[in-house]
Amino acid sequence: MLLLHGISCLIAKDGSMNIGGLQKVSLIDYPGKISAIIFTQGCNFRCPYCHNPQLVDPKLYRPCLFSKDILDFLAHRRGKLDAVTITGGEPTLQEDLIPLIQKIRKMGFAVKLDSNGSRPDVLAHLLKDKLLDFIALDIKAPLDKYSQVVKVQMDTGAIAQSVRLVIQSKIPQEFRTTVVKSMLTQKDILAIAKEIAGAKRYALQRFQPAQTLDPEFAGEQLFPEEELLKLKKQLEKMFPLVLIR
Ligand code: SF4
Repeated sequence: MLLLHGISCLIAKDGSMNIGGLQKVSLIDYPGKISAIIFTQGCNFRCPYCHNPQLVDPKLYRPCLFSKDILDFLAHRRGKLDAVTITGGEPTLQEDLIPLIQKIRKMGFAVKLDSNGSRPDVLAHLLKDKLLDFIALDIKAPLDKYSQVVKVQMDTGAIAQSVRLVIQSKIPQEFRTTVVKSMLTQKDILAIAKEIAGAKRYALQRFQPAQTLDPEFAGEQLFPEEELLKLKKQLEKMFPLVLIR
């Protein structure tokens, strides 16, 4: 992640948007588009395998960036970038997410949002106002195992509602699950697949054994490739597109 440093948001906040980082260009994050990536700071989950701990654990927060600086940067990238991805942390926790997206779209960029699905009210607003061009929803576990994986007590009804909203929205979308061997079994992945029936695209993401929110997960074993390929074949009977990355 490339960071442009601003004044620490612990001292001065830029509206109600905590932005922890900016990647100036990505050729892979937004399917088919060249995008910049905005990383919001703060998350309501504590997935131990999270590879962005500096956006999740307040003790590790870095100085925030100003959204004005991000918008200035984007103004100079018109014609060079197609799109902006907003990821986190969890972007829907940011009070000024909607006005920021409105400004980015007014500049002519497509917007992709990555979300953990915990705030269906925010997703509903964004979808109703047609403010998103692509949405990627992280599905962490089957609903009955969610709190066990994200390590906080949470409302699984909110996740089920977000899943329905995204499927019904018909905008370009991706559901995705990070496959962590000590937390999810093949049976769990197939249970998730049933809970997101109707999705257009489902991606299984290999766990990244680099920096993790819980340092013990840095040594986590990877899901065996042959198991992933077997799962992919089964999932291809349920979704138009299945990816392993
Ligand atoms: S993996 Fe995503 S949802 Fe989980 S703690 Fe990290 S940023 Fe939050």
